[in-house]
Amino acid sequence: DSVTDLDADPDERAVEAALRPRSMDEVIGQERVREQLSLVLDAARSRGRTADHVLLSGPPGLGKTTLAMIIASEMSAPLRLTSGPAITHAGDLAAILSGLNEGDVLFVDEIHRMSRPAEEMLYLAMEDFRVDVVIGKGPGATAIPLEIPPFTLVGATTRAGLLPGPLRDRFGFTGHLEFYAAADLDLIVQRSAGLLEVGTVPEGTAEIALRSRGTPRIANRLLRRVRDYAQVRADGIVTRDVARRALELFEVDETGLDRLDRAVLDALCRRFGGGPVGLSTLAVAVGEERETVEEVAEPFLVRTGMLARTPRGRVATPAAWTHLGLAVPASSPF
Ligand code: ADP
Repeated sequence: DSVTDLDADPDERAVEAALRPRSMDEVIGQERVREQLSLVLDAARSRGRTADHVLLSGPPGLGKTTLAMIIASEMSAPLRLTSGPAITHAGDLAAILSGLNEGDVLFVDEIHRMSRPAEEMLYLAMEDFRVDVVIGKGPGATAIPLEIPPFTLVGATTRAGLLPGPLRDRFGFTGHLEFYAAADLDLIVQRSAGLLEVGTVPEGTAEIALRSRGTPRIANRLLRRVRDYAQVRADGIVTRDVARRALELFEVDETGLDRLDRAVLDALCRRFGGGPVGLSTLAVAVGEERETVEEVAEPFLVRTGMLARTPRGRVATPAAWTHLGLAVPASSPF
């Protein structure tokens, strides 16, 4: 498995939970979203009301779950966690909603992957705090309205644009999380190193920050692999040299690209002459799900200016050819 693979094993999940900021003050970076969100929560608290529904969008690993937990803790409310793919039937959602107490925070991760009937039930619940429970089948079926106490929905999605308009419109606030600047990632690595009691020097944490794809989850994961390396092959201290050697071993390059990122670039340039090529074709070429390529690899490649999404398909930029050590072809549209 790749060191930047975002589906971690249970041990990794436990460490990740231990590194999670617990309050808004501990969150590093994302100043704008933090300030906006604090305002929304402060206002709700001062009115003594349940906070408005919040949508958080952004690539995996940027802090959506963390913020959802902080929202609950700032509102002194219990957090209920579920995810779009886990809600296959409207009945699943009805069961969750009817079990809520007033003021609870319900976190739905990957909310764009919920089934259509569940989505429609959610509209009503968000707006009127009511669900219609359908009893029976066919012509004899009846809908029994069921009141639910006011709650706060926190939805997370990799892209707000994936949500149907009516659902998006029912959120009182949408926070867009951006990839983190290297300086913020450096602070995150330093904080995590402190919690994990790992010895570091500034050049060491900076090196990890630079290679973390703008993503805190990856920064934390790389720190742990570099720590392993430092313990086994060095004197335990994370220096720049130790970080470089460890990350080379784990196939994370100087720009932070991992195996999947490079596979996408490689296919795009070597197999499809730099594109344009359709997303599905590209996904098949690298042996991945279309969604993984689109939501995990592409956002960072787009941000680093190596890949462009055009109406005709994905296109490699000169930076992509250069990164692979290839000459930019004369046919390149750039
Ligand atoms: P998402 O839900 O967007 O996939 P998470 O909230 O699970 O991301 O964050 C992944 C990990 O990154 C968490 O364990 C947390 O430790 C760390 N993290 C995320 N955002 C921040 C931040 N702003 N400051 C410090 N650590 C962060």
